[in-house]
Amino acid sequence: MGRNKRIGFVPTMGDLHAGHLSLIRRSKKENDSTVVSIFVNPLQFNQKKDYQSYHRDTRADLSALRKEGVDMVFLPSDQELYPDRFQTTVNVEGLTQGLCGAFRPGHFRGVATVVLKLFQIVQPARAYFGQKDYQQLKVIEKMVHDLNLPIEIVACPTVREKDGLALSSRNRRLSISEHKRASSIYATLRSVALFAQSHPASAVTSLRQLFYEGLDLSKGDRVEYFEVVHPDTLTTLKKIQTPFLLAAAVWIGKTRLIDNLLVNRNSK
Ligand code: AMP
Repeated sequence: MGRNKRIGFVPTMGDLHAGHLSLIRRSKKENDSTVVSIFVNPLQFNQKKDYQSYHRDTRADLSALRKEGVDMVFLPSDQELYPDRFQTTVNVEGLTQGLCGAFRPGHFRGVATVVLKLFQIVQPARAYFGQKDYQQLKVIEKMVHDLNLPIEIVACPTVREKDGLALSSRNRRLSISEHKRASSIYATLRSVALFAQSHPASAVTSLRQLFYEGLDLSKGDRVEYFEVVHPDTLTTLKKIQTPFLLAAAVWIGKTRLIDNLLVNRNSK
């Protein structure tokens, strides 16, 4: 690629859906060329079984990327990225302590490490991340800032199904009735946000209760966490004050889903 060409980069774990494609389209608009990587990163899975059962369909992914007119696809092997005796990792400290970080030890260390390696290889001017994985986005922004990487991180809005469920590669594991229950996550986040906006200074415990009550869960489903945090620091708020982020992880049967909703000072 030419020296002064600006590369836009979209790192993924494959099993591409319209959420990924929205990042790719944005990158295509804003850069001279777009690189997409597909790598199911073993370092970020805290359960071996989850890693092994992660859905992979490279052929379908490549055909989708061809249709989008992506300039280059990077498909590294495990051995290429983690040769024997690999010893160096990147740990973003404070931001990874709460939310998903509290339940998935080592997850964000795996994410930051692989993303830094991919950045070094691809050398992008911009990289695109989804707000669906809000904590991940913040961790990458922090790493880029703290390590002086000359890369602009572009945050992209969450793409959803008509019923509000955030698109995720994990959604394919849901049965029809599980999908229906899963769609109550975003619907409930929205109603909790509306309540919070019309009741400033309400206690987070009452929002948590509203969240639990609003969800349409069955036996075997459970809330892993529901938190109200400051959108920049991800520290827990005790009383509602804009801006705030509602963030949740919910198990629908054997599938773990995450979602969030950001309320800014002037959000309607
Ligand atoms: P993944 O393949 O799950 O690692 O995701 C790759 C990128 O796509 C990450 O930056 C995700 O945040 C983003 N992404 C995943 N799902 C969505 C979605 N529903 N809307 C927007 N971006 C998404």
